[in-house]
Amino acid sequence: MDDWSALAEPRGGMPVLPAGHVWLAGAGPGDPGLLTLYALAGLGHADVIVHDALVDKRVLALAGPRARLEFAGKRGGRPSAAQADISKRLIELAKEGRRVLRLKGGDPCVFGRGGEEAMALAAAGVPFRIIPGVTSGLAALAAASIPATLRQVNRAIILAAGHGGEDDSYDWGPLARTGEPIVLYMVMHNLERISQALIGAGRHPDTPAAAISAATTGAERIVVSTLARIGAEARQQALESPAIVVVGDIVKMRERLLAATPDRKP
Ligand code: SAH
Repeated sequence: MDDWSALAEPRGGMPVLPAGHVWLAGAGPGDPGLLTLYALAGLGHADVIVHDALVDKRVLALAGPRARLEFAGKRGGRPSAAQADISKRLIELAKEGRRVLRLKGGDPCVFGRGGEEAMALAAAGVPFRIIPGVTSGLAALAAASIPATLRQVNRAIILAAGHGGEDDSYDWGPLARTGEPIVLYMVMHNLERISQALIGAGRHPDTPAAAISAATTGAERIVVSTLARIGAEARQQALESPAIVVVGDIVKMRERLLAATPDRKP
């Protein structure tokens, strides 16, 4: 038995996922070490684990022996199950008396539609609990030695979704003008367009920027550049989803921290 499985064994004092209940939990960004103990307990107790594509294989490997895995989410950015159908499925499983773990990458309520599922469960009278997870935008930064806040640099950090098509009319101006660092999720298809919008709204083209893909997994890759160049460089280096992009002076800290850490080089 490996260390993770040993930890996942049901243990006294751990919370229990009751029959007929749903735990709507975050799985963190990938590394099983970033799961919460509640999510770990849920993995051990669940009869059914309804997960999305972002949940790392190493996390799913912590499921208890009786758990059945059901995939529900998006693949390759395309919805493969309608949100209403996922909520319906959770309700159905709970009403059959199953212990249901709904597991989503990162935090369930950060760009994860966890709020909608919670509303549907509440409306159906299904008992549920929301279990926070470590959101990828913050985990990716910390793991890349980019502090989300630095006292001298920023007093806010913006988490924003970069999805939307060519015709997306979202106005990036107000976010750009805060001057605060911006962490973009789901942005890889629109990175050049959004970078230009931020520059157009007054962000300096030389503002440091980093793109981090598959954060906290063995496939993690990091490209550090500037706001003007990050889109082109991420494309040239074939950086793939899932990835987040962070724009702001906090990115500068990475080089200094790595230089001061003997076993890591920028
Ligand atoms: N609920 C998730 C976000 C879901 S939206 C959370 O809190 O993290 C999907 C987006 O999350 C992806 O397009 C990507 O921008 C980001 N993402 C998720 N996992 C990631 C990872 N390991 N590394 C980098 N970005 C990730």
